[in-house]
Amino acid sequence: MDDCLFCKIIAGEIPSAKVYEDDTVFAFRDIAPQAPVHVLIIPKEHIKSAAQIDETNSGVVAHIFEVAAKIAKDEGLDDGFRIVNNCGDSAGQTVKHLHFHLMGGREFTWPAG
Ligand code: 5GP
Ligand code: ZN
Repeated sequence: MDDCLFCKIIAGEIPSAKVYEDDTVFAFRDIAPQAPVHVLIIPKEHIKSAAQIDETNSGVVAHIFEVAAKIAKDEGLDDGFRIVNNCGDSAGQTVKHLHFHLMGGREFTWPAG
C-alpha cells in the first residue's frame, strides 16, 4: 500500500523506534505514548483492520499475540499489560493498517482509559 503510514514504517521509509521484527511482524514504539510502555505490533502484510481478518490471514494475529507476550516480558511488564485494537472509525482507528497497542507500566481503568 503506497499511501499507508505503517507500510512505510515497515519499509524503513519513515523512521521508527523498532522493538521487534521477524518475517511477518514488526513492532515499534508509539509516537504519542499513552503509557510508559506503548508499543504498536503490526503484520507486515497490509491488512486494513480487524474486520478484514479471516481464515486466510488469522495466523499472523496469533503470532502477534506470541510477540506481544515476549515484548511484555522483555519490557518488564510482569504486573500486567493491556492489548488494544481499535477497528474502524467509530472505535477511533486512525491508521488503516491493522495494529495492536501493547501498553503497560501504569494502572488502567476499565472500560476506558
Ligand atoms: P489508532 O488510533 O489507529 O488505534 O492508533 C494509531 C497509533 O499510531 C496512535 O497511537 C498514534 O500515536 C500512532 N502513530 C501515528 N503516527 C505515527 C508515526 O508516525 N510513528 C509512530 N511510531 N506512531 C504513530
Ligand atoms: Zn499498510
